[in-house]
Amino acid sequence: MRLGRDWRAGHGEAVNVRVLIDGPSELVFDYAVPAGMSVRAGCRVRVPLRRKHATGTVLAVVEPAQADFGLREVEALIDPEPLVTPALLRMGEWIAGYYGCGIETVIRSLLPEAVRSEENSAKTRRVAVLVKSPDAEAMEKLARRAPRQHVILSILNHAPENRMAVTELGEGANAALKALEKSGLVRIETEEVRRDPEAEGLDEVVGSSPLQLNEGQQAALEAILQSLETETPMPILLLGVTGSGKTEVYLQAAQAVLDRGKTVLVLVPEISLTPQTVRRFKSRFAAMQDKVAVLHSHLSQGERFDEWHRIRKGEARIVIGARSAVFAPLPDLGLILVDEEHENTYKQESVPRYHGRDVAVLRASFEKCAIVLGSATPSLESWHNTQSKKYQVVRLDQRADGQSMPMVRVVDMRLEAAKRKGGPAMLSDKLRSALEQRLEKGEQSILFLNRRGFARSLQCPQCGHVCQCPHCAVALTYHRSDERLVCHVCGHQAIVPRKCPECKDPAIILQGYGTQKVEEVLAKVLPAAKIARIDADAMRRKHALRDTLNAFKSHKIDVLIGTQMIAKGLHFPNVTLVGILNADLGLHIPDFRAGERTFQLITQVAGRAGRGDLIGEVIVQTFTPHSPSIQFARRHDFDGFSEQEMEFRRQFGFPPFGHCAVLTARSNHERRAEFTLQTLHLRLKEDLPSDITLGEVLPSPLVRAHGQYRFQITLRSRQARPLTRHVQAVLAKTSLPEDVTVVFDMDAQSFS
Ligand code: ADP
Ligand code: ZN
Repeated sequence: MRLGRDWRAGHGEAVNVRVLIDGPSELVFDYAVPAGMSVRAGCRVRVPLRRKHATGTVLAVVEPAQADFGLREVEALIDPEPLVTPALLRMGEWIAGYYGCGIETVIRSLLPEAVRSEENSAKTRRVAVLVKSPDAEAMEKLARRAPRQHVILSILNHAPENRMAVTELGEGANAALKALEKSGLVRIETEEVRRDPEAEGLDEVVGSSPLQLNEGQQAALEAILQSLETETPMPILLLGVTGSGKTEVYLQAAQAVLDRGKTVLVLVPEISLTPQTVRRFKSRFAAMQDKVAVLHSHLSQGERFDEWHRIRKGEARIVIGARSAVFAPLPDLGLILVDEEHENTYKQESVPRYHGRDVAVLRASFEKCAIVLGSATPSLESWHNTQSKKYQVVRLDQRADGQSMPMVRVVDMRLEAAKRKGGPAMLSDKLRSALEQRLEKGEQSILFLNRRGFARSLQCPQCGHVCQCPHCAVALTYHRSDERLVCHVCGHQAIVPRKCPECKDPAIILQGYGTQKVEEVLAKVLPAAKIARIDADAMRRKHALRDTLNAFKSHKIDVLIGTQMIAKGLHFPNVTLVGILNADLGLHIPDFRAGERTFQLITQVAGRAGRGDLIGEVIVQTFTPHSPSIQFARRHDFDGFSEQEMEFRRQFGFPPFGHCAVLTARSNHERRAEFTLQTLHLRLKEDLPSDITLGEVLPSPLVRAHGQYRFQITLRSRQARPLTRHVQAVLAKTSLPEDVTVVFDMDAQSFS
């Protein structure tokens, strides 16, 4: 099977279409297209299915194979216009080629199931409309003869626009309405009702007005406005320290775009984790609330259907959503804003494995609209693009309120461990007394516990030494089953040392503790403090996150303990202390981005402190106080960090100086997963383009997940396309065992 270049059928040659049948079973079948019918991907069609008929969505137009002879034909085209716009379709094509996945899977993402399925259609209601009011005499007569009709007429007479839903006219109004309709006094109409996801009114939205911008913000806004006037705008990277007022710039830029009659797409890392950012957009545009669409992951199918069509029709002028909102079918797109562009939640971890930020940049270039990527800690990919002049950079180096950046202190936990003679300490003396001080002064604190990665590296609690690969400069992963240390980039193996290679201490052990443990310890150390915890476990209850954040905001909580969930964009003016308990944990995972992630995390978490009138303090606990990620974060020095990190990336050919992909095989059968990947490895080696560096077959760091064994190969190359093409070609000619799943992840963000 080969996909046609042009997915429009009906140019005379015989073509087939691949149709995704509506319904929960997600069946996909090929059909022939009858002569004279013009079908494109994204069109809705009616097809025969067994002895019945069904509706479905065309996923792709495909060239017929010999064996397809006698295929059943599409019965009818429901709508000649595809549901996807041409620009989105082009994007789909690009995604399929770049990430090496079928166009089918991309179309599924482009068109949410709620939109494809026939069951979801617009919700309608019947309304009674007053056509003309009888004169007083006739009314009087009616009051005597048909009191019900009389009542309805008077209600409609006083109703806004002289109309009212039939259901609201009370039970048994139907007969009277029929009579009124017959006499030509009332008309019954059908109108669409929107299923409004916000209708419950959980948060009352209070309007906000634009702030007077400071000089830096004004310059940033002007750069964006200028970009709006450009024929093919260059992406703008807005590099602004935490609290520099980036959001205010987004809001005013969005307003300017709306004023020009265009629409705005706002991407955030995760809706539920960025409640404050979403609320700020909602309140700024409170006056036009029905023109704002927030795409939550928990919309009902009906709500999703309505929101999608509201967006498509141009009724919603601002769309806020996570990754998949990048496909929102906004017409007249004027501006895309990508907040916290460095976040790896923008990468989809299931097929199609696209990167939301990168697709947003692509969409902006297709739609010729402006795009702003904002962050205090930009990804090195985006930073590299500013250096090679593909992006324009605009900086905000000061906090918007004129406050200085918080003071960051680094605590060497090796000394704490020595004091305690034994296992790793959780709370240093310095952090403990800082917490006590805050409690006395009635100020609030946040304790951050890093949960990224697993305690799978070997680190000495005495000297902080971490066993690293001599070839790749990443931490070696500890494999308990066979007592080995393995490099997950190149395959280098080492035996597990009996004592620390650095300080000869035998206490080299695995470490790690959870938020619950921290809460327990803290409750003992600070018995008077009110403590709450935010992590995936504690937040399982609906609205738990919102409630806890609100309680923290109104100072019902003194100390908030949290994981990555609290690292993003929160703004609490009374927080003067942020403690980072285990800054190292993310540093020694087998991922070349470990240093970058750690720098970002510390900088972002530290940015939660001192956002009001009070000066903030940050205490970073670490076993490796001299690690560049920690030292540069301590000084809020992005330039310093990026300069040295870029050097490391360049040396080893890691992104942004090339692309890195992971090929994973997983199965319930360990041998079969490994063997399949070894077969693929052999074939990948044949005719390997010289540009591609092929890694070895290795167990994944998470060797066993969801009951399946996982093996992986890391591939690197300067150019993305040849790498995808080479892997796709090998996959196409290799038949895989049924119980082995092989996944190709281009520009992988996760190596676990
Ligand atoms: P960032 O998104 O860069 O972290 P925010 O937009 O959250 O920063 O701004 C931090 C704080 O500064 C917010 O409370 C915001 O209301 C305030 N702020 C932003 N711009 C201004 C301004 N021009 N004048 C006064 N306060 C501002
Ligand atoms: Zn290595």
